[in-house]
Amino acid sequence: MAIHEKSLIEPERILSEEKLVVDGVDVSGSWNTMITPRYLRDYDDDFEAVIQKYAGGENVHRCWQCGSCTNSCTMYAQNVQFNPRYWIYLTRLGLKDEIIKDKDIIWQCVSCNKCTNICPKDVRPEGVMKALAHWMEEQSITEKTPSTHFDETFWEEIYHTGRIEDASVMMGFFKKTNQPLMQDWLVVFGKRMMKYLPIAQMAKMGLNFIAKPRTKSWGKTGEVLKAYVQEQKEAAHG
Ligand code: SF4
Ligand code: SF4
Repeated sequence: MAIHEKSLIEPERILSEEKLVVDGVDVSGSWNTMITPRYLRDYDDDFEAVIQKYAGGENVHRCWQCGSCTNSCTMYAQNVQFNPRYWIYLTRLGLKDEIIKDKDIIWQCVSCNKCTNICPKDVRPEGVMKALAHWMEEQSITEKTPSTHFDETFWEEIYHTGRIEDASVMMGFFKKTNQPLMQDWLVVFGKRMMKYLPIAQMAKMGLNFIAKPRTKSWGKTGEVLKAYVQEQKEAAHG
């Protein structure tokens, strides 16, 4: 898994000499740039296993660093700092601090899956990008994304009622992400529903939004489900 990454070489470790003699040999000229050795002590042996426990990160150990994912990557074409192969390499080495340095761009993966389609080892780099992004959210290294807020609102609705009321989920999501509850597109949407939906159905939807009915015999099922999901999460991620 040999790789040479410029970003791992701090500028102060690059020595450039006009005149350089090593072991009695004059290496001046084109060989006059040397890099002082770096000893890695800040790695986490378990980090690869942690990322493997997130959905999408399972196959990160299969990577052989061919670089096909980065070559085909939509985001890399826009920004050469966005480099799935590099982050997979760091994950395998357990160099968390190096990954965290790129926390502001890892989330930019657009899930086009070009990397996943081309990967010869079925690593699923898109999944690894998502796994890293989720790990950073859970460690409070980055803010929760709107997508995570939406997932949480969706699950809260299920735990509470055993069913999904779209309007309720949407309002909960707007609140969590500090968006106005009444948005222009929503007003247009509401007007069209009033125009085309039968009144009885509209009334039922309004009633459901206010009363939040539960699935029949839901009882304590939601609490049990919530506890089970939490247990599974803790077992996977600690
Ligand atoms: S394409 Fe697959 S095997 Fe190649 S570097 Fe990317 S993740 Fe690793
Ligand atoms: S899914 Fe993400 S990492 Fe993969 S090619 Fe698309 S933008 Fe790049």
